[in-house]
Amino acid sequence: MTQPVKQHLIDPEICIRCYTCEMTCPEEAIVHDDVNVVVDASKCNFCMDCIPVCPTGSIDEWRVVTDPYSIEAQFEWEEMPEQADIAEGDEAESGLEALDDAMAALLAKAHSGAGGKAKAPDSAGKPTINMYTLGKPATARVQGNYRLTDQASDADVRHIILDLAGLPFPVLEGQSIGIIPPGSDEKGQPHLPRLYSVSSPRDGERPGYLNISLTVKREPQGICSNYVCDLGQGDEVQVTGPFGSTFLMPSDPQADMLMICTGTGSAPFRGFTMRRQRISPQDKDRMTLVFGARRPEELPYFGPLNKIPDAFMAKHFAFSRQDGAPKKYVQDLLREQTSRVAELLQNPDGYIYICGLKAMEQGVEEALRDIARGIDLNWSELRDKMRLDGRYHVETY
Ligand SMILES: Cc1cc2nc3c(=O)[nH]c(=O)nc-3n(C[C@H](O)[C@H](O)[C@H](O)COP(=O)(O)OP(=O)(O)OC[C@H]3O[C@@H](n4cnc5c(N)ncnc54)[C@H](O)[C@@H]3O)c2cc1C
Ligand code: SF4
Ligand code: SF4
Repeated sequence: MTQPVKQHLIDPEICIRCYTCEMTCPEEAIVHDDVNVVVDASKCNFCMDCIPVCPTGSIDEWRVVTDPYSIEAQFEWEEMPEQADIAEGDEAESGLEALDDAMAALLAKAHSGAGGKAKAPDSAGKPTINMYTLGKPATARVQGNYRLTDQASDADVRHIILDLAGLPFPVLEGQSIGIIPPGSDEKGQPHLPRLYSVSSPRDGERPGYLNISLTVKREPQGICSNYVCDLGQGDEVQVTGPFGSTFLMPSDPQADMLMICTGTGSAPFRGFTMRRQRISPQDKDRMTLVFGARRPEELPYFGPLNKIPDAFMAKHFAFSRQDGAPKKYVQDLLREQTSRVAELLQNPDGYIYICGLKAMEQGVEEALRDIARGIDLNWSELRDKMRLDGRYHVETY
């Protein structure tokens, strides 16, 4: 079988035929006839120059194909073709989480704990991916760098706020961005970007600010995490992305979300929560957070989280090394909440998100398997169905 390739396309239903993209493309890959504006797959090198200039967003369309659509075929289109399911089980190829292979591989690994190809919720917003690349990153400026963990703690987790200085950088809650650490590796190659989940909602830390926040943990000897954690206000950072097209929140207000995380895995859920607070502040009993850390002093956003009313979001914390208390992990909390989790597993509007350390996957999965068994459901079958319905999401690293 021919190797699948990503093809850049234009949505003929939305395009207003202004030809701005055609004038912008340095490869002369965009052409038009009397009907449509189309991209020549043999010329497009994914430089992304055409993406920010398109006034309608119609240029931001991608399909994974084994045989690219010819320009003649595209001239005939009245609407976009569906994505054919050509690479079952390999989301890096068919899920279009990222266009550059290194970032796609990182995301495929991060999502592998879901047990198969990830799928976005049907009602999720349409994500933009790879607008900025290693060859053409965006320059962001640091607006703030605040320590989230107690000064006395050896865990240094930081809230980093980046200003894109007016550059278009559309992100959805649950997506990640790449940060390029300066310098090069031992082979003299420039460092590859590291992925960080966006912890702000799509319209910014405050509505309309359009800035982006991250939740970054300093790793001992880690190249990028130390670079980011040491950034000062006003410093410039090279950013790629956005990345990720499946770990997204449903827009449907009926969606009931269970969010399970450890440490910096809380980042996307901060974005989810702020988004819900902005669009439906009156919501009740449709968000549950299960959050694990070693100690309360190491749990990012502990203070602000505790201020969110329980009716809006139920919060359950597990601490594995709290003085004078028995060790508790997120899976223990799930077992304590068996009836709530069982109800969510059976609810077609129930969504499960798991984010954080890879090590949490096994315990969480075992707890979910036991809870499913308790209601006479086979966890593997249920998980596959939930995943295909866009209701089960894992992002661990
Ligand atoms: C989808 C996704 C989302 C992510 N989101 C977040 C997020 O929101 N927040 C976050 O903090 N991280 C996140 N990560 C992880 C992040 O991308 C990086 O992997 C992490 O920051 C470590 O990168 P680094 O460059 O600091 O470490 P690297 O330099 O890449 O090193 C990797 C590991 O090796 C260890 N190491 C390196 N050199 C040495 C040495 N000489 N001796 C001993 N140990 C060494 C480091 O401690 C580190 O743990 C995410 C990852 C993915 C895939
Ligand atoms: S991504 Fe670059 S090469 Fe491809 S159509 Fe757009 S501007 Fe042209
Ligand atoms: S810039 Fe956008 S709207 Fe204009 S022709 Fe190109 S794809 Fe169509």
